[in-house]
Amino acid sequence: MSKLPNVTTSIFTVMSKMAAEYNAINLSQGFPNFPVDERLTDIIARLSKENVHQYTPMAGFPPLMNQIAKLVQSSYNRTIVPETEILVTAGATQGIFTTILALIKTGDEVVILDPSYDSYESPVLLCNAKPVRVALNDDYTPNWETIEKACSSKTKMIIINNPHNPTGKILTEADFLQLEKLLSKFPDILVLSDEVYEYITFEEKHISAHTKDFLLNRCIMVSSFGKSFHITGWKIGYTVAPEYLMKEIKKVHQFLVFSVNSISQAAISEYLDVVDVNLLGKFYQEKRDYFQKLLQNSRFELKPCEGTYFQVASYANISNDDDVTFCKKLITDHGVAAIPISTFYSDHKDQKLIRFCFAKDDFTLESAAKKLCNI
Ligand code: PMP
Ligand code: GLN
Repeated sequence: MSKLPNVTTSIFTVMSKMAAEYNAINLSQGFPNFPVDERLTDIIARLSKENVHQYTPMAGFPPLMNQIAKLVQSSYNRTIVPETEILVTAGATQGIFTTILALIKTGDEVVILDPSYDSYESPVLLCNAKPVRVALNDDYTPNWETIEKACSSKTKMIIINNPHNPTGKILTEADFLQLEKLLSKFPDILVLSDEVYEYITFEEKHISAHTKDFLLNRCIMVSSFGKSFHITGWKIGYTVAPEYLMKEIKKVHQFLVFSVNSISQAAISEYLDVVDVNLLGKFYQEKRDYFQKLLQNSRFELKPCEGTYFQVASYANISNDDDVTFCKKLITDHGVAAIPISTFYSDHKDQKLIRFCFAKDDFTLESAAKKLCNI
């Protein structure tokens, strides 16, 4: 009688809980452990005494919506209309859920690329629709041939995640050309573009769906201030979609949450005047490079990381255990928590790969690396 018989507690919750139980260094669930920018905490402290404690309009606090439009304009040179094309959500999670609930019907199919973040499949199942999970290539590039084979007249949506959790991969111009070709063959397919790590890219910037004309009228883009401003617990994100889709998304949103936390919206709105999102890539690139350097003499083999704050590592030289067992022993025997990559695949295929989160202060990274180098 369960609506989600195969769903258990999210691996991020499981691993963070286990890390706490064993007092392990938590590089599993993705969240920063360093202090938030004082300019932001000062703003919210001041705002707490002001009149920002009641419901905002349903789709968002108007000054924040204007700021989001300005941000999208300056980042991607795209003009969006705040009143009709933006929705402020309780994190990207709610943006994803609300979008799927609003746009996917019984019997529809939704293509999800594995390894995939865990928020995509369950809302599809709750719509009595069918998730069609297609594996990325071994180097985490999309296999456009298999993706096309997975599409049919039933396919209503493809979900892309760029930059990609857990692999750190970003899509190329060639990928977008392939996507354009595919969409021209399937005029009814929508694209849900999860770009929560849009400002966390390193050697190269990611290519946003915002910049692709062929997507503008059929793409729903989700982002998260949690990632961009190191405030995952605030749970504030936003969704951008063309008006005819946004109308439907708002219908669901008004009954799911009605409106999102007011003081956080007001604070982020002011903070956007002073913060420079373009510094984020460099900030995390230094962390990535430092973490990689700390692990260079370990027996872990580190995979390329083009964006996000996640580092995938192979432990094939260390153990034959499956990755879930390995991660549990990593906590109990070595005091470090990570995420097993098999949990991002529908078939749970074990490739001896785990994910570390490097959004941590230097001391945490150094302490974790010391333990990891001793394995
Ligand atoms: N999408 C991806 C790829 C994520 O990694 C996360 C969260 N970490 C989310 C969505 C959800 O973001 P939020 O915390 O803003 O709900
Ligand atoms: N997105 C975070 C991660 O990948 C987890 C957020 C959550 O626990 N829902 O680690």
